[in-house]
Amino acid sequence: MNSSIKKKITTGVAGGLFSNILMQYSIPVGTTIIDMRHIPIILLAYFGGAVPAIIGMVLAIAGRFLIGINISSYMSSLIMLAVTLFSIIIAGTSLRDQAKKWGMLTFANLLTTILFFYLIEDQQLLFYLIPCYWLVSFLSGYVAFQVLHILFKSQMMFDKYKAESTIDPLTGLNNVRKFDEVFNSCMADLEKKKELSLLYIDIDFFKKINDTYGHSEGDVVLKDLGLILRSCARPTDIVSRNGGEEFTVLLVDCSLDQAKKIAERIRSTVEEHAFLLNSGTEVNITVSVGLSNFPETTRNGSMIIKDADKALYEAKRTGRNKVCTANQQLL
Ligand code: GH3
Ligand code: MG
Ligand code: MG
Repeated sequence: MNSSIKKKITTGVAGGLFSNILMQYSIPVGTTIIDMRHIPIILLAYFGGAVPAIIGMVLAIAGRFLIGINISSYMSSLIMLAVTLFSIIIAGTSLRDQAKKWGMLTFANLLTTILFFYLIEDQQLLFYLIPCYWLVSFLSGYVAFQVLHILFKSQMMFDKYKAESTIDPLTGLNNVRKFDEVFNSCMADLEKKKELSLLYIDIDFFKKINDTYGHSEGDVVLKDLGLILRSCARPTDIVSRNGGEEFTVLLVDCSLDQAKKIAERIRSTVEEHAFLLNSGTEVNITVSVGLSNFPETTRNGSMIIKDADKALYEAKRTGRNKVCTANQQLL
């Protein structure tokens, strides 16, 4: 129902073709043919609403006339029109899902039964045909709905797990897997001579926060820091939590000077920010930042992470709460 119009049109065409395929496998009975061509149209109305259902219906009716033009094809096309409109209306109501499905299938069966009475004179044939038709129509309709529900559910799970596999649940930032993926694609782009900067950020004495206020209060600080990093970085920068209390900001197409400014902005914003714990206590933390840039501090792209990490170690070693640039001696 919420898909794009393009998807609705494609699905409508696919459903219409499916309806035609089912018509090719119809069983001739008396002067008419019976098949399950209504099932795809009902599915289209139920899952996609008016647009795909009407497209599917038009293709199904066109297909029926290609098989032959006679009273039976006119009547079955009228039935197809009625079933489609009924299904579209039912799909738009607030009825329970089961009521909608069985209501659509029953309506189609009722109309087809009337058609049988009109076109088939052999009473004995009708006696067998009608219960068989109802049984097969209900059964195939039920199976089709079930199969689509299972597909639908597994697609939703797949989308959910796909999103979760790249996101750190605590901060909502990218996780290390996503960081690796983006970093590798940046590496491939480096040949196009783009500049790339990396900030490696680690909270100073974070163990003390956990030891003093508890692990869950430590989590509050990590979450809040995630927000600060996002707000200090540019919208296009890749902010990730690479593990524990270590974060990175990957600055694509960013010069060393600009990266230094962003790193300093992060450092000073964190220093000035009061982190509000669940208990109501406000705490202050500081961060140390290691910075590397291709090509200025690091000629070999694959060394960007290692160099930023080394610069972070340097910042820790020389007093913390500071930004250190990699390979300073080379600049
Ligand atoms: P340094 O300035 O040298 O970085 O000191 P530090 O205490 O920050 O560093 P250390 O590596 O000794 O401690 C990191 C701490 O981070 C230890 C661990 O309890 C905490 N930590 C790691 N992951 C999490 C987490 O998901 N939640 C919380 N609350 N704490 C975490
Ligand atoms: Mg730390
Ligand atoms: Mg650490």
